[in-house]
Amino acid sequence: MAIKETDLTRKELFAELKGELAAIVGEEWVTDDPVVLIGYSRDQSLETAHNPNIVVLPESTEQVARILKLAHKHGVAVVPWSTGANTGGGCIPQRGGITCDMRRMDRILELDEENMSVRIQPGVTFGKVYVEAEKVGLRNAVPSAPASVSMLANYLDKGVFQVSNKYGVGTDSILGTVIVLPDGQIIRTGCLFDDRYGSICVEGPGPDISGIFQASMGVYGICTEMVAQLYPLMPCEDLLAAQFEEDDLEGVAEFLRQVAREDCSLETILFQDGYMAMGLAPNMDGSEVIRGQLPRQNALVYYGGESDEEKGIRREQLDAVLERTGTELAPEGMLELFKELIPWERVFKIIQLTPRVERLTGCFELFWFNVAMDQVPDFARHFMKLARKNFADTDAARSDRPFPAEETTFYLQPLEFGRSGMLEMDAYPNQGEPEGIKRGIAMARDAIPYICEAGGQFDRPYGGEQSGFGWVQTPMLGTYYELLKGIKRELDPHNIMNPGRLGMTADPAGL
Ligand SMILES: Cc1cc2nc3c(=O)[nH]c(=O)nc-3n(C[C@H](O)[C@H](O)[C@H](O)COP(=O)(O)OP(=O)(O)OC[C@H]3O[C@@H](n4cnc5c(N)ncnc54)[C@H](O)[C@@H]3O)c2cc1C
Repeated sequence: MAIKETDLTRKELFAELKGELAAIVGEEWVTDDPVVLIGYSRDQSLETAHNPNIVVLPESTEQVARILKLAHKHGVAVVPWSTGANTGGGCIPQRGGITCDMRRMDRILELDEENMSVRIQPGVTFGKVYVEAEKVGLRNAVPSAPASVSMLANYLDKGVFQVSNKYGVGTDSILGTVIVLPDGQIIRTGCLFDDRYGSICVEGPGPDISGIFQASMGVYGICTEMVAQLYPLMPCEDLLAAQFEEDDLEGVAEFLRQVAREDCSLETILFQDGYMAMGLAPNMDGSEVIRGQLPRQNALVYYGGESDEEKGIRREQLDAVLERTGTELAPEGMLELFKELIPWERVFKIIQLTPRVERLTGCFELFWFNVAMDQVPDFARHFMKLARKNFADTDAARSDRPFPAEETTFYLQPLEFGRSGMLEMDAYPNQGEPEGIKRGIAMARDAIPYICEAGGQFDRPYGGEQSGFGWVQTPMLGTYYELLKGIKRELDPHNIMNPGRLGMTADPAGL
């Protein structure tokens, strides 16, 4: 018979649950040790920490299904946790309950060289797939996130990559998934709908409902398996860096838009100095030194092909864009400096493979949204104004952050053919100081309405009460949001799956 919180005290309920979970996964894979729980209570965002009551580590889809059946029966919240590297509070158990850590499921189940795809479990990292794929001349699309991040969770989460101008975002690389629904039923989507289909992508069949599980922060279920696309590694490759006046954001955005439109590059990005330095440096002091030597705008184009001839053709296309936009190449001296810091040709691989962790003060306030490329300069300038307003005169001496917080950093990623771009604007409040948190939240309260009103669109439901965008964007969704809620109630009548994430606290029902 179902045990409800009303029948038992919360303490008794979780003591009971611990035993039942242990019967599913084995005693060593379930814990309520406060020392362990606290490790699951926060992330790099400004969101308030909350401990889960229990952490459980399943090793199979069947175990996940039994865990969710149990949680469904008891009406207890479950938060999926793949590598916990999201930067917006997505894994913070706002209402306690069970954190379901997927890291034991860390196997590459199949690498299909012929059909350029890989079948993975949630604990498989970007680094692991990159190393295996490279052996057969393939690569995965990787973000500038740490190589230790879960590829499955990032793809499900609509990750954005330096190759997004060419191959799209994370969800575009998904061919099939296995999902455990909140009541423990299992569904299979895309090519995994039946094993006989191998990696053939069959969306649907019929209307494709797999989109419900994407960019949804686990509110509709837990993904335990994914088939994802791989791409060819180009044997002939090179890097081009362009130079701009320090504040020529119009020039950078237009140059990147045209490169993406020409479809002549493999990777096309703007990393401003701070972002780039953090990616390259081995430690915090190093990032400060590197940043001091970088130009403010680092517009980088990684290009190439199957042969030197193809690479030459791409280079001609790029030269034409340089000429059309009046853009100059970065000076040789700067290239030399880069070579000293790090060999040019390895820059991208190092960003991709480094076990990069946030090396600032444990906090990374990021606003990450889609815009038209020609809107980028206005957004960037306004954001800098807001950062100066909210973070100016913070006491840098009291913190160990490498750059002053008001010095924001941008990462601009053109998306498919430069039709739009993903603009990430980062600020660095100090999570360790109450004043830093206060200023960070004030910054969010200023930046989010501005972004939504000026036409920026958030598409990953990150954040919570303090720094999330739900309070502004969710009410704008109208019937669309009503439909999402209806599906949520249908699939998860007890609202156990990562509760509070669907409307991101804008919903009075707490969905
Ligand atoms: C320094 C740094 C730089 C970054 N740069 C980038 C970047 O350039 N591009 C980019 O795309 N990302 C970037 N990120 C973000 C980060 O890599 C992604 O948000 C991350 O992939 C999600 O983290 P995760 O894979 O550890 O998932 P988690 O943090 O474990 O989970 C993310 C969300 O999905 C839910 N979830 C987790 N596992 C499952 C599952 N199996 N089924 C259903 N729901 C699940 C969780 O409950 C949570 O809400 C960066 C992060 C850091 C720290």
